[in-house]
Amino acid sequence: MTYVYILIIILLIILNILLFLAYYRKKQEEKSYKQLKNEIAKSIDLNIKNPVNDFLLHQLNFFIQNLQEKYKSEKNKRRNIFSILDNLSEGVILVSINHDEIIRVDFANSFAKNIFNTEEFVGRTLTEVIDNHNLIELALKSFKINDNVDEDISFYYPEKKYFRCQVKSIGVENYRVIILLDITKEKNLENLRREFLTIMSHEMRTPLSVISGYLETVLNEPNLDEEIYISLKKVEEETSRLTRMFNDLLDIERLEKNIGEEKRFVYFNFSNTIKRAYDFFKIVSDNLFVEFEKQVEEDIYIFGNEDRLLQVVYNILDNSFKFTSLKEKGQKKVWLRLYQSSNEVILEIEDTGIGIPSKEMKKIFNLFYRVDKSRTRQVPGLGIGLYIVKTILESHGARIYLDSEENNGTLFQIIIPTNKNALNRTEKSF
Ligand code: ADP
Repeated sequence: MTYVYILIIILLIILNILLFLAYYRKKQEEKSYKQLKNEIAKSIDLNIKNPVNDFLLHQLNFFIQNLQEKYKSEKNKRRNIFSILDNLSEGVILVSINHDEIIRVDFANSFAKNIFNTEEFVGRTLTEVIDNHNLIELALKSFKINDNVDEDISFYYPEKKYFRCQVKSIGVENYRVIILLDITKEKNLENLRREFLTIMSHEMRTPLSVISGYLETVLNEPNLDEEIYISLKKVEEETSRLTRMFNDLLDIERLEKNIGEEKRFVYFNFSNTIKRAYDFFKIVSDNLFVEFEKQVEEDIYIFGNEDRLLQVVYNILDNSFKFTSLKEKGQKKVWLRLYQSSNEVILEIEDTGIGIPSKEMKKIFNLFYRVDKSRTRQVPGLGIGLYIVKTILESHGARIYLDSEENNGTLFQIIIPTNKNALNRTEKSF
């Protein structure tokens, strides 16, 4: 029984202590509230004894407390956002531009600071912290054209790296965010693949031409057995496909370095070139049961490398027939159009083929890029045709536009300037 009394007494003591603490805290709060009220009243010369003033001060205090809470929660949110940005594996830089076209950094996350090997970003100009002319130009371009831009840029310091750089608008005037994605691994792999394929193409040329020579001799034999003739014809077809593929790979090297024949530009009748391409592909179209229509204005002359521009037309037409014949139902048709419009010549190749998904459209001009392998497995290709097209057109100061809808068809529009001076401008429009 005595234990029960002792327990009750202890519980009563604890309850008393808790009540006292609550009372003490309330008193403290009241005291600090009173102090604050007095301070405010003093600073704005208000008589605290007046009940109206007292009520106003009470309201004001309530307001201040609310603001303090809000400020605290905003501060927390800000801290969370910065910690997320700092843990990203992409560089993020927030910049703004002033009237003198000087770009200043307002924020940079840890990844960006590591890329440029500096901690002091904020408040400095972009040229002070970034030793890369191309990236600065890209940021300036985004402000000038008032649009988002992106480009793959190489950095040489502190080590050679490649970044996909995007400059995006954030909905606040004169502000942009620069996002840097490290693509060094992919680029190195691509360079390695390119180097390997170039060496291999060089090495394969001689044996392939020997095989072709022997095949030609054997195929010209008058008493050749019919079955052997058909098999050898297949071997000949595949050999020429391989030769074309290796030649394409070697072309890339030549085109990128812009060497030798590449620079030999002349005035020539482009209408005739297009008609030649039409005649060649008419046979292909008949074999594949795809309709083929041409609308070519006569005697359109342009200044350029005829062989290379013919290659552009061949590469695009080749794809049009490949991807239109793949279609299972619906109309199968390809159009080839050439016309003059003021100072420009417009070439259009349109088809009703399987089309290109919109998210892939930007990428199909990249080297070795093929849309969804399962879709195109049935047709041979390495993903180099359109890269060659893009490189040739750039050297002619021409632009190419692509419009496509999946399962409905694709349109390639090429705009070639007829004015020689325009050749100096290598505009990208992909
Ligand atoms: P490939 O050797 O694979 O044809 P290209 O560079 O010529 O390489 O084309 C790249 C990819 O673009 C193709 O694999 C294909 O998926 C897509 N493509 C190009 N032209 C067309 C077209 N007319 N219709 C549908 N897809 C196309």
